[in-house]
Parts: sequence; C-alpha cells; structure tokens
Amino acid sequence: MSKVLIRNASYDEIANVVEEVFSLFPLDVSGKKVLVKPNILGPFSPDKAVTTHPNLVKCVVGKLKKMGANVIVGDNTGIRGYGMNEHSARVSGILDASLGSYENISRKITQVSSSSRFVDEFVVSECVLSVDFLISLPKLKTHNLTSFTGAVKNSYGILPGAEKTNLHRIAGSKRNFAEMLLDVFMIRPPDLVIMDAIVAMEGNGPTSGAPRFIGKVLASDNAIELDAVAVAMVGAESNNVEFLREARKRGLGETDISKIEIDGNLDKIKDFKMPSTFVANKGLWAIVNRLSFLASAIPKVIEEKCVACGICAKHCPVGAITMEEFPVIDDKKCISCYCCQEMCPQGALEIKSFLQRFSRTNSEANPEFLR
Ligand code: SF4
Ligand code: SF4
Repeated sequence: MSKVLIRNASYDEIANVVEEVFSLFPLDVSGKKVLVKPNILGPFSPDKAVTTHPNLVKCVVGKLKKMGANVIVGDNTGIRGYGMNEHSARVSGILDASLGSYENISRKITQVSSSSRFVDEFVVSECVLSVDFLISLPKLKTHNLTSFTGAVKNSYGILPGAEKTNLHRIAGSKRNFAEMLLDVFMIRPPDLVIMDAIVAMEGNGPTSGAPRFIGKVLASDNAIELDAVAVAMVGAESNNVEFLREARKRGLGETDISKIEIDGNLDKIKDFKMPSTFVANKGLWAIVNRLSFLASAIPKVIEEKCVACGICAKHCPVGAITMEEFPVIDDKKCISCYCCQEMCPQGALEIKSFLQRFSRTNSEANPEFLR
C-alpha cells in the first residue's frame, strides 16, 4: 500500500520537507535522467497561485542535483503560441528555479499507442517516455471541468498544446474527459508526486480563482491516493470527483481516505470554495451524473473585464467563439470544456451552472446549496 505524507510548510521553509520526502520515498536517481514536471499552465506570476511555486521547484531540483541526477524541468502550457512555453516558465519564476535545467519539452514530440476508447494514439513530449524517473510537482487548485486539479491533472501537461485542445474536442463531455484524462495519466504515471498546497486556488479555478493559504506540502508515490487525500483536505468527497471515481474503478489507487495510510495531520480546510460546476451533494450527484447539463454551463463574457484579445476564440476546440466587439459564444456548439475560461488572462469568463442559476445563493464560488 502507498502512503501520503502531509507536512506543514511555507515557501521560505520548505527544504526540510523536501529532504523528508526523499528519505520516505527513496529514488536511486544518481546518473539517471529525471523529468521534474511542475504545473506551468501559462504566463502567470507566482502570487496568482496558478502555477507551482518556484521555491518548491528550486528546492526539488537542488536536491536531485545533489543526488547526482541529470535533471530536466519542463511542462507544456495550456496557452498556445510561439515561445509560450519559455515565456510562461520565465514569468512563473520556474525558468530561474530550474537552476539551468529548463527545457522546452514541446520541441521533441512523439506518438504513443493507446488502448483508450477515444483514440488509438496520443502525441506526447518525447522526454516523458525516455526519462528514468518522472517527478510531478502539481499545484492544488479547483477546476471547473474536473472539479479539482492536482497530481492526475498535472499529467495532462505531457501533451503538447494542440493535442490538449484536440482531446477536449474528441471527449466532448465532462464524463468522457475524466476517462480521457486517466488514459493520458496512464501513459507515464509519475514515480513521485510533491504537491504545492502552501497557497492553493479556490473558487473559479484553474486560473481565475482566488489564492487560498493552506500551508501544506503533500507527497506520495501514488498520484490517485494523493489527490484523494487533497480532495478530502479541502472538504470535498473523492466520490464526487469524476476522475477519482474512474481511477478507483480501474484499480489505479484507493480513494477512500479511511483506507489510505496518511503520515501527518489531515486538517480539513474550512469553507474552501469549490467551483460552481462542482456538485457536493451525494444524492444530487447521482442525478447530475445522468443529466450532466445540470452541472454544466455555457461561459458568459464579463464585458467590463474583457480586453478582446481573442485568446478564448483561439483555444476553443470546437470553434464556438467568434470575435466581434467582444467574444460571442455559440451555445449550440459549446461542449462546456471551459478551455476558454482556463486560458482567459483577464478572468473575464464567468461559469455559472444551470443548478446555480436557480439557487438562492449568488456566490459562484461557494455553492452551499449543493452541500
Ligand atoms: S474573454 Fe478573455 S480571452 Fe476572451 S477576448 Fe476577452 S479577455 Fe480575451
Ligand atoms: S466556448 Fe468555451 S466552454 Fe464552450 S466549447 Fe468553446 S472553449 Fe469550451
């Protein structure tokens, strides 16, 4: 059985925790190639809590180098565009934190065959398959499509940008996407996960939510179990997170936290705000699972915030957005993948689920009515 470690930490005092992680989960990395994969979703500065904090990256890379590893640090950003991977690494502080080991992993890609029911093969960054070890450094955040983004969702970054969008189009629904996400995760599960839950993101994640101090680092050699513990920590049920239900069905890890060995205190974070599309009520979840339109939503443009940059239109996998003075969304084409909301640099897209529109509360980030 795997184990999930939880430790208190701050960005200034993180070295001891990293030392402990490597002693509890020993990896023989000397002379080996190691890919360190933080979450570098886009060009966001560390204070926005969108990307893995550079101090964690720096500490892990420094430790690996001391252990004699040949380190590569890289990720494929969600936002596409020439030079965007390097630009995002620079703005997030991860380029400097890599101690000279940053690589643009989108430059060399390859195809890998798959038993996914959606596609016969995936396009991935080549180094993901050629390294001896993969160490994932996710950020704990909410996510409008997958409810939660941590270790499993961080693996979606092994896909170069256009492939990510393409798979959203092929999946076409939240439930299918959960399956597809696990198909991608299984291409190369990480050997070790160290999660940045020091400052997390709550509410309208993964880019437009609010930073929330939690002060924890979590670690495990099982990404599923780590995510299940993190979900419990923020007060949600892993059974209500689609990809964790699917992972449990596939036997990829335990998601019942009473059966997971936890080293540390699982202090539940009070009033952590899940995204508006998250259904916390168990009975309602079963209904929503059949009638998925209840929890989905067509994004709405907040014109006061929109700068008409067109990034949302460029990243919509089904071409549902046309640019006029502001973006116009064709609700007949929209598949509610929320790529537009994820990529909008201004937080100018609002997601309000059908259920929430009819709720008494008007808080998009705290759907108490669903509890
Ligand atoms: S909604 Fe966001 S991404 Fe779309 S045009 Fe406006 S600012 Fe740009
Ligand atoms: S409009 Fe937004 S949510 Fe709808 S399909 Fe396009 S990117 Fe996805």
